[in-house]
Amino acid sequence: MAWDSALFSGILFSPTMAWAAWTTLWIATLCQTLGTLIGFLVAPMLMGKPRLPRFLAFLYLWIFRGTPLLVQILFFYAVLPLLGMRLSVLTTGILALSLNEGPRMAEIIRAGLISVSPDQREAAASLGLRKLQTFFLVVLPQALRAIIPPLGNNYSYMIKATSLLSAISVSELLRNSQQLAQSTGHPLEIYAAAACWYMGMISLTMIGQAFIEKRLHRSEQQRHEVVRAEQPASPQAPVLHPLDLPSSAPLLEAKNLTKRLGNTLAVDEVSLSIHQGEVIVVIGPSGSGKSTLLRCLNYLEPPDSGEIRLQSEPFGPSRRPDGKTAAFDRRAFERQRRRIGMVFQRFNLFSHLSAQENIARGLVRVLGRPRAEARKRANDLLRDFGLAGLEHKYPSELSGGQKQRVAIARSISMEPALMLFDEPTSALDPETVGEVLGTMQTLARQGTTMVIVTHEMGFARSVADRIIVMDRGRIIEHGTAAQIFANPVHSRTRSFLAQLEAVAPKRHVIPAE
Ligand code: ADP
Repeated sequence: MAWDSALFSGILFSPTMAWAAWTTLWIATLCQTLGTLIGFLVAPMLMGKPRLPRFLAFLYLWIFRGTPLLVQILFFYAVLPLLGMRLSVLTTGILALSLNEGPRMAEIIRAGLISVSPDQREAAASLGLRKLQTFFLVVLPQALRAIIPPLGNNYSYMIKATSLLSAISVSELLRNSQQLAQSTGHPLEIYAAAACWYMGMISLTMIGQAFIEKRLHRSEQQRHEVVRAEQPASPQAPVLHPLDLPSSAPLLEAKNLTKRLGNTLAVDEVSLSIHQGEVIVVIGPSGSGKSTLLRCLNYLEPPDSGEIRLQSEPFGPSRRPDGKTAAFDRRAFERQRRRIGMVFQRFNLFSHLSAQENIARGLVRVLGRPRAEARKRANDLLRDFGLAGLEHKYPSELSGGQKQRVAIARSISMEPALMLFDEPTSALDPETVGEVLGTMQTLARQGTTMVIVTHEMGFARSVADRIIVMDRGRIIEHGTAAQIFANPVHSRTRSFLAQLEAVAPKRHVIPAE
């Protein structure tokens, strides 16, 4: 049979074909949307701990992944009327396609959610964002970077999968083409025209996907891996130098905090008071529990036992005698937690937000400030921290030192009563350590109450009102910088300081202001 070019172009641009392609497109879009919504419902069920929802989600996935789509379409077509559900063929088809898409989307969404580092949730919690806010403002936008490419792929597949609805006489592109092929007796030209429409729609999908991916592309680069070493053992009685602590009530008081991580007693019966305006530096060998102690103080790691009072109020859930958490006012707890800012080793900036937005987001969402005011405050802080001109840069476009200063500015913007710094310079290149230490020194001079975990002994000496030495989860010694550095009493303190001296005889120079 000869190829009829006139017929081909006539059919290709005919209103019938255009209408059939439009029908295909909206059915595919609707089914993809419904399938994605089902995926968003099922993915948390798969990831959650409760067994029944997890089992039901798994059963759904198992059935719909295990049977061919055409079988599902025909099954719904045959079974629904028997169950008394009189749906149109179109609705039946949409139901089948959407339910078939749900499991694939659930897995894609699950992978996307897993791909967001737990660091991001911790940073959100430390800023006082609630769980739903954290999900929609921090986790989801970042998960979308992983979700969009396979979603685009699935949508292309969905456009083609609608052709299976011709089996139940839904009048989409393939069904229309079949009817035209029969009535004209020119299947070659008709199916070629149909193929052109499918390819056109899928090409548009690919262009749209590329556009969205480009916009989402600014990803954070995790440059630094932190390796922790196990600590040697040598407990001795704690050595506590007499200190001139203020007589007023402490800003934060922790009593007998204990935290077990795996088989390690990371924090072992630690008690600690932090007074207004005090700068406390926590030192000790790697693995001695410094970071865990810090994270217990703001409940990023809920302690197993012990109690914390913040500004004389009980802070955090108390434990019942059976060891379980007693009921507590979560809103009040979140309000209290906002009083404690935290700066992390690896910055934990929100990678999908600019420097300005990293700061402004918490001001708007947590403190309820107007957007324009929040942006101005963010810009002012960035300028104060020597970061003017970087307002619209994304974390991936900043150096380590700049990222950490944005992170400090973000934390300070929430006007916390207490700032915790968890080895803020350990993930930095040596040349940028000084700029971050300089920023912290300025904060210390301004009277900010700070607890800092660091190995920068020169810095500790210059800013610390009090130094706490930890070993094997316990505070083994504390005193002023002069007492600890000039006259360490505990043998573990002496060996730790000697070790540091041998490894890094010259510490970083803090730039003059
Ligand atoms: P430091 O900050 O002094 O280096 P950490 O507080 O990070 O010490 O760790 C204290 C101890 O807890 C170490 O022995 C470490 O190996 C252990 N630890 C830390 N995190 C975990 C974890 N997620 N699971 C099990 N053990 C952990």
